[in-house]
Amino acid sequence: MENDNFGFETQAIRNQLERTQYLEHSVPLYLTSSFVFEDAEDMRASFAEEKDRNIYSRYSNPNNNEFISKVCAMEGAAAGFAFASGMAAVYSTLAAILNSGDHIVSSSSVFGATHSLFINYFPKWNIQTSYFDINQPETIEGLITPDTKIIFAESPTNPAVDIIDLELLGNIAKKHNLILIIDNCFATPYLQQPVKWGAHLVVHSATKLMDGQGRVLGGITVGDTDLIQKIYLFSRLTGPSLSPFNAWVLSKSLETLAIRLDRHCENALKVAEFLENHPQVNKVKYPFLKSHPQYEIAKKQMKLGGNIVAFEIKGGLEAGRAFLDKIKLCSLSPNLGDTRTIVTHPASTTHSKLSVEERLAVSITDGLVRVSVGLETVTDVIADLEQALS
Ligand SMILES: *Cc1c(COP(=O)(O)O)cnc(C)c1O
Repeated sequence: MENDNFGFETQAIRNQLERTQYLEHSVPLYLTSSFVFEDAEDMRASFAEEKDRNIYSRYSNPNNNEFISKVCAMEGAAAGFAFASGMAAVYSTLAAILNSGDHIVSSSSVFGATHSLFINYFPKWNIQTSYFDINQPETIEGLITPDTKIIFAESPTNPAVDIIDLELLGNIAKKHNLILIIDNCFATPYLQQPVKWGAHLVVHSATKLMDGQGRVLGGITVGDTDLIQKIYLFSRLTGPSLSPFNAWVLSKSLETLAIRLDRHCENALKVAEFLENHPQVNKVKYPFLKSHPQYEIAKKQMKLGGNIVAFEIKGGLEAGRAFLDKIKLCSLSPNLGDTRTIVTHPASTTHSKLSVEERLAVSITDGLVRVSVGLETVTDVIADLEQALS
């Protein structure tokens, strides 16, 4: 776009491609697997990357380019690549950068599939991961070895909504010359821009709040041009690219990200305040509640508190299951960041295969319930939670 000084919402709405000869107002969908060339020389120069143009949709496509360009503008990043899912983004980003023998230092609470990659797959290629407790950031530097290449973290974390100081991570990465990668899925660039704090790469599951309506899977990585070039070259070979249709959906979704997030966060704070005063609830975690252990850090690095509220129900595992069974309006679903409010009980579902000790290591107690607060009338959501808690 011509003016980089435009505000966040303007970037999300007006950062668009050139119009076709039809002068359409909204960006059309380019469902095409490949693009044509004028002549042999045009084709040669394009493949030699002497020209910045679309060749084949595994490499690039106008809809993907629009989505990438918008997210780069919103994150304050130089370049990006769009993927078929958040996990395709996480995997391809790490696989493109890491070599056999490299070491990762990661926050212990990472998305389940990311954790599984770290412990079940990367060791096959002699890539090891050491975890730090997100509540003990002073232990991070002690984990760094001469082989460490990457610091990886999420904030807020899933499902316990812990917060890590991104500025601190940025400083450690700089001091030790490491690549800092932040999974910014729970915050979105509207609430938090890790590049500002020194992140070299930011990965997203666009499936969550970016789409925000539970329709498509998608992922994206944005950040430093040199690193993105490596990720691009790896991805154009291995083929995890986002479909143009999903890119088109996601680009449209970004136009309403700010206004949706404002309401998501307003509703989530109300739900958190309701839960904090409920006798059946032991403890509530929401970044913008004063009782959150990292409230000050959350205030420093986030615009609003996000849409995820975690709470501890009295009565543990059985009470958690009984609560889910009583829910009427909200959905029981593994997704999050949807217009529809979703409740999950990690100890009996997503994390049931872990031992109690393993769950506690990632802050998942037996009574932990996660609410992804949606955009329904908030009093209806609270009434549903209230009747299920009684
Ligand atoms: C959902 C999620 C992912 C994975 O995204 P998919 O689009 O489901 O592949 C990665 N990181 C976080 C934090 C997530 O919530």
